[in-house]
Amino acid sequence: MLKNKLGAALAIALSASLLTPAVEASSPAQGKERSYYEERGDIVWEVPMQEKYIALTFDDGPDEHQTPKILELLEKYQAKATFFVVGDRVKRFPEIVRLEQAGGHEIGNHSYHHPSFHRLTVKTLTEEMAMTQEAVLETTGSKPVLFRPPGGYYNEAIVELTKDNDLKMILWSWHQDTKDWATPGVYKIVRKVLNNARNGDIILMHDYVHNSTQTIEALKVILPELQSRGYRFVTVSELLTHKVTPDHHIKVNH
Ligand SMILES: [Zn+2]
Repeated sequence: MLKNKLGAALAIALSASLLTPAVEASSPAQGKERSYYEERGDIVWEVPMQEKYIALTFDDGPDEHQTPKILELLEKYQAKATFFVVGDRVKRFPEIVRLEQAGGHEIGNHSYHHPSFHRLTVKTLTEEMAMTQEAVLETTGSKPVLFRPPGGYYNEAIVELTKDNDLKMILWSWHQDTKDWATPGVYKIVRKVLNNARNGDIILMHDYVHNSTQTIEALKVILPELQSRGYRFVTVSELLTHKVTPDHHIKVNH
């Protein structure tokens, strides 16, 4: 870890010397820029690829009312999705998580109490991750391999801790943040997704939004439309297997 920190410091020093002074990281708490983590494969925002695959992700559930309705719609369009679940809700609604599993969907870790990760100690962060791993294991028989921090907040410690727990940190395509949690209206959610859809997108939605059916109503439009454009909906883990690696661009002459 110390070695990583030294390497990171060196990388910052090097990149700082290459950048114009105007380009300065304004939020040191957020840490280094996206490209740094993306190139190392520490954090995934989307997965560039040739094929027409898209990953729908639903955070903050399970919810006894909204999640089953979303599951029904996904099944209708043969869509697989990823649910980033909150541990204490897994404990409350284990049968919903088992429905997700039975439908062939992926279950990811989204912390236990959904706290803001900004000022948590490493001990608390560790507990938040571990308790949800346990809750999902107890419920489904297997441990998640994906982690999404609440609010998408990360720093060096959270990135390291995610790796130490054999998890991969998954965020979302910046052009696919539907903000459905703020109930912006069905049309806005639909427009955001349909206007921006491209191969390898990770779409951010929520299957637990207080007093809202907007996500469900939006899916009724989004799923058939993207399907008619030739997209297939897959879990995040499957999406990752389609990543175009630099090897694809190297021509070898035998
Ligand atoms: Zn969340």
